[in-house]
Amino acid sequence: MSAEIIDGKAFAGEVRRKVAAQVARLKAEHGITPGLAVVLVGEDPASQVYVRSKGKMTVEVGMNSFEHRLPAEAEEAALLALLDDLNADPAVHGILVQLPLPDHMDESSVINRIDPAKDVDGFHISNVGLLATGQKAMVPCTPLGCLMMLRDRHGSLSGLDAVVVGRSNIVGKPMAQLLLRDSCTVTIAHSRTRNIEDVCRRADILVAAVGRPEMITGEWIKPGATVIDVGINRIPAPERGEGKTRLVGDVHFDSAAQVAGAITPVPGGVGPMTIACLLANTLTACCRANGLPEPEGLTA
Ligand code: NDP
Repeated sequence: MSAEIIDGKAFAGEVRRKVAAQVARLKAEHGITPGLAVVLVGEDPASQVYVRSKGKMTVEVGMNSFEHRLPAEAEEAALLALLDDLNADPAVHGILVQLPLPDHMDESSVINRIDPAKDVDGFHISNVGLLATGQKAMVPCTPLGCLMMLRDRHGSLSGLDAVVVGRSNIVGKPMAQLLLRDSCTVTIAHSRTRNIEDVCRRADILVAAVGRPEMITGEWIKPGATVIDVGINRIPAPERGEGKTRLVGDVHFDSAAQVAGAITPVPGGVGPMTIACLLANTLTACCRANGLPEPEGLTA
């Protein structure tokens, strides 16, 4: 193996420590405590786990955590009314609605009801537009985490060839916008891309956000490239016992690590950075709401 392993878990710990230090300063110097409200509709077990761990980490960095639960059969109007209350609440600086929502709710109506200044997921249409036009936006957490790791490794990204595989609204597209903002030459590849292996082989920076286990192998990678694997896929692992599973990325780690210059593992790469960036975004939203300087090194 030749690639350096980018330790997302350690990096995320560092981001959380920086957030905690700034939160302590906000409290001491201005008497302000940032607050994050998380809204969960229904009882989806995975969502419950995410919401619990978000709440725990929010408190650990010294912020206020507000958790709101609605039953799966709640009317959309009840959720919108709750969001109106949270938008108006000065103790709440960030609002996150845990996705997916039940089928009878319209996801974009719900997301677009959040005050864009409190939209710490960065999914509100105003934030999407602000990011695309190079203005001050709330930036989606997963791509923000990827950007932080890339800046840490490369310093300046200017002029580098970046290929993002995947064009979803939550990862692929905002990732491409961020890389473009940092002056990379950006290509977005997707399921209709021709000769995708050749396209990937051009990349100094390769970001995989596909949702296909181990699709990208070492042969697709330019020697020395930095590979960021966003994918989280659960596959059967009979070697661990009957019915057991394990997590893998969209990149075939062992072959990719022979060729790449640096690579994020799964688990322990991009995943931990996502929650850390949610906390960073809440801090940023709080600073902006109070007319204070933005936290250094924690924004796009
Ligand atoms: P989506 O399913 O929304 O998008 C997947 C994208 O991959 C689409 O643009 C699709 O192309 C493209 N794609 C699918 N098959 C191929 C193929 N054979 N070749 C090239 N491109 C292909 O997924 P998300 O963006 O939401 O998530 C991607 C992965 O990242 C998932 O594994 C998810 O679990 C993970 N994830 C991890 C997070 C983290 O915190 N680490 C956070 C969010 C997601 P097309 O548009 O043409 O269909």
